[in-house]
Amino acid sequence: MAFKVPRGTQDILPEQTSKWQKVESILRDLSRVYRYKEIRTPIFEQTELFQRGVGDTTDIVQKEMYTFDDRGGRSLTLRPEGTAAAVRAYVEHKMFGNPDQPVKLSYIGPMFRYERQQAGRYRQFVQYGVEAIGSADPAIDAEVISLAMDIYQTVGLKDLKLVINSLGDKETRAAHRTALINHFEPSIGEFCTDCQNRLAKNPLRILDCKKDHDHPLMKTAPALTDYLTESSAQYFGQVKKYLEVLGIPYEVDPNLVRGLDYYNHTAFEIMSTADGFGAITTLCGGGRYNGLVEDIGGPEVPGIGFAMSIERLLLALEAEGIELDVKDSLDIYVVAIGDEAKLKSAELISSFRAKGISADMDYVDRKMKAQMKSADRLGAKFVIVIGESELEESAVNVKEMESGNQEKVPFHDLVNYLLENK
Ligand code: ATP
Ligand code: MG
Repeated sequence: MAFKVPRGTQDILPEQTSKWQKVESILRDLSRVYRYKEIRTPIFEQTELFQRGVGDTTDIVQKEMYTFDDRGGRSLTLRPEGTAAAVRAYVEHKMFGNPDQPVKLSYIGPMFRYERQQAGRYRQFVQYGVEAIGSADPAIDAEVISLAMDIYQTVGLKDLKLVINSLGDKETRAAHRTALINHFEPSIGEFCTDCQNRLAKNPLRILDCKKDHDHPLMKTAPALTDYLTESSAQYFGQVKKYLEVLGIPYEVDPNLVRGLDYYNHTAFEIMSTADGFGAITTLCGGGRYNGLVEDIGGPEVPGIGFAMSIERLLLALEAEGIELDVKDSLDIYVVAIGDEAKLKSAELISSFRAKGISADMDYVDRKMKAQMKSADRLGAKFVIVIGESELEESAVNVKEMESGNQEKVPFHDLVNYLLENK
């Protein structure tokens, strides 16, 4: 029997990991610059955390969770997203008591959702996300959005579109909800069974339905923005003002609603507009979640965040034909001829590595020619060939592969020579 990776998962092979590492280092760097400190939470949590934190009526909770009972009979779920756990940790560790609010957190790690696999949609994927908990200032909404945009721009993406909306406050949502029910109820029979259930439970989610996306009633549905209370409208106006000051172009889409239940006020998505990106164009989604901290058992504290998957970021890079500048360099390859030379090679590369010089040699008894070819394939900057005469002289010709230039260097000077020239 031949084993395969489970459906919806993938191996990231050595040829691809350097790209991942490059993206991860950009993420780490920007998290530092914007001051979002990394938090690491468990891969699984109590199931109830997600039922409460993500919301019972969401696709995630209803259809996508990997839930299991452990041997002690507790219901646990592999995390499908990062916000619920970050907020749980915020409450559990009483971070609301920190003198410096908002608490700005970032995370990166695998998330799990039982979804139908397609390009850009996997059952295990890596999300980077941030949460700013403890501020209801529109300036922080703009900061969070600008961090997300900065990430995509730093990796080199150009075909980007930022779409924002306001989901308003409780009052807004209640008025809009009634309008939605009036709008959809007479024809709800034409919609999928999910939407029929959503009508009573959470009609806003009908607007996010993937199956009934093209139903004519979707386009004429009452827009949230028409139901914004005065203070919500004002808040939204401020967010837009800050975005303008930061020089971040945006579009307002009155039908943008996010997949998770806990959002209010600012909601946003960043899409790729690159040709050939395929059906799924959303790279990043986020928004404000005043009320979530309370739902998870904490005090009344507002928050905002976003999440993006690395997989979709890499797909967007591919769609735009952008190669990340990844250095996978080998500083020196040591070719050894004979057992004595091999011992010397092992000693030399160990002294190189001790100084941070990347070095490699042959371990499968190849002939000199094959070793040279190997050095070439690995992209070694320098090559040295150690044979009898080199051992006698305690010196070796260091060949720079690109130029073909050679220079004779005593063994004991090699480390310094390489440090100066690599
Ligand atoms: P979608 O509408 O594409 O299903 P969503 O609303 O479920 O997205 P969120 O839960 O907001 O997405 O997740 C935020 C981001 O995480 C998405 O914009 C996307 O980059 C990424 N993401 C979500 N689900 C997947 C997945 N199954 N595979 C890869 N990336 C994903
Ligand atoms: Mg989804």
